[in-house]
Amino acid sequence: MTDVLVLNATYEALNVTSLQRAVKLVFAGKAEVLHDNERMLRAATFAMRMPSIIRMLYYIRRPRQQVALTKKNVLLRDDYRCQYCGNKANGPMTVDHIVPKSAGGASTWENLVCACLTCNNRKNNRTPQDANMALLHKPRRPKYIPWIQVKRHTVPGEWYKFLFLYDVSIEERIES
Ligand SMILES: [Zn+2]
Repeated sequence: MTDVLVLNATYEALNVTSLQRAVKLVFAGKAEVLHDNERMLRAATFAMRMPSIIRMLYYIRRPRQQVALTKKNVLLRDDYRCQYCGNKANGPMTVDHIVPKSAGGASTWENLVCACLTCNNRKNNRTPQDANMALLHKPRRPKYIPWIQVKRHTVPGEWYKFLFLYDVSIEERIES
């Protein structure tokens, strides 16, 4: 594991960089080491513990990107868990309009949830109130952290506390 997690000055996860680039940032006084691991990094002029997380000492602005609103991404956001009964992937999962289309419900992150076939049929073209079916969570637009798509199987444990701050538990499952 030689990748290094880079946090913004605000502790928000920014990206993943190479060990070499991370060390350069630290030596240039642009970043500080927040977490290192046991292994030593030795070069002709210095030795240091290998950084695993660094934090930029100044704020880096970046444009916000958004996760595409697709059926699959709604299911991924909800982890294939029915947002009405809580069951997970017992058969094919559907995407339910919370406020039905027939009642003017929009196709938005806030109005779409993963639902099992049973709940979707039971709810039919009704609002959750009319169907007396409560939602487990209020659905939200997920945040976009593209590099997690690649890294999702290899993220080191110490990274998680910084990633969880920003809901990466959702995004890390979003596939391209
Ligand atoms: Zn269900």
